[in-house]
Amino acid sequence: MPPKAQFIREDGLYHSFCGLVSVGWLYQKIKDSFFLILGTHTCAHLLQNTLGVMIFARPRFAVSLLEEGDLSAAQPDIAEQIEEIKREHKPSVIFLLSSCTPEVMKVEFEGLAHSVSTPETPVLFVPASGLDFTFSQSEDSVLQALLPFCPEAPPEDKRVVFLGSVNDAIADDFMLEAQKLGIPVAGFLPSNHFHELPPIGPGTVIAPLQPFLPKVANLLVNERGATVLSSLFPFGPDGCRAFWEDLAAHFDLKVDLAEREAKAWERISEHTALLKDKKVFFAADTLLELPLARFARAAGANVLECSTPYINRRFHARELERLEGVRLVEQANFERQLRSMADEQPDLVISNIITANPLIGHGVVAKWGTEFIFSPIHGWAGVNMLVGLFTRAMRRRAKLDAFEL
Ligand code: SF4
Repeated sequence: MPPKAQFIREDGLYHSFCGLVSVGWLYQKIKDSFFLILGTHTCAHLLQNTLGVMIFARPRFAVSLLEEGDLSAAQPDIAEQIEEIKREHKPSVIFLLSSCTPEVMKVEFEGLAHSVSTPETPVLFVPASGLDFTFSQSEDSVLQALLPFCPEAPPEDKRVVFLGSVNDAIADDFMLEAQKLGIPVAGFLPSNHFHELPPIGPGTVIAPLQPFLPKVANLLVNERGATVLSSLFPFGPDGCRAFWEDLAAHFDLKVDLAEREAKAWERISEHTALLKDKKVFFAADTLLELPLARFARAAGANVLECSTPYINRRFHARELERLEGVRLVEQANFERQLRSMADEQPDLVISNIITANPLIGHGVVAKWGTEFIFSPIHGWAGVNMLVGLFTRAMRRRAKLDAFEL
């Protein structure tokens, strides 16, 4: 049984940015994929504005727009669009993503995807609408859709599969580190190409790189008999050390990375000196909050509050242990958060895209949580970038204050 972590559940907004946004990194990660969203002008605007894509960039995602006339149709017809996507982009796999309006209209997505799917180019349904999914969670839905295409590995195939998308440079860093420690690697889920999905079976150790993938991790246990590593997520020197030591132990390797961790802290000491005893308040929505707060605390910050959309007691167990004593809140109420901020006067607020600018306008030093999602902050190679994201807003504010003087 996972430990009974103490956290408060409030009644606040938890989907400030919808699940469609994960298309922004997934279409780049899975290089022979195409993402088709069945949505409205709102969805198209969201993607256009948040991902800043220009028409001539020919991105491998699109929105199939529902117009008023479609509202009366029994089931939208996307066959022509699928043919056009195949002709123009030649993808190996097409993901069909749901959105709010067709979900309310009760479009039967599973059947719709099935009707246009072929063995050569599977069309996979991905639940991702902003009604049910926040920001990073639809990566979990995409990986669940890919799971049936991962080859079955025999029980004697004992290797690690890294779970969660990271950019190529960070993936290379994880490969090299595993090689150095003698840990055999079967691959990454997701892989760079659809036909390179890793084999997964009872001997596979799943090492989660992202904290927002509990459902697919659970499926890997139930459907393939794999083992999921329970450790810290590999963010910051403390997270990386625990992650690699715990992973090595699954392969009967005794690894002590105390020195490596100390050196990594030493390298970022200029930043941690700035963070020391600073009051940090997490009000964000990316689902990265638990490991980020744990890292900030280890770096010397005083974490006043760590709010996050969802907490999974089992998947986040090790992070929760390290956050004992911090006010942990699920689905935080923003009104209450504003009152807490007024009382506690944080030095830095990690906030979502909706609230960061108004907070800055009121004199609060605030940072968009979104930037952490789009930055290479994983593993040993990501330590400098990670701590830099925390201190950049504080340095900028200090410079502005000096300018005003
Ligand atoms: Fe908005 Fe829903 Fe479309 Fe997301 S799926 S952009 S929340 S309408």
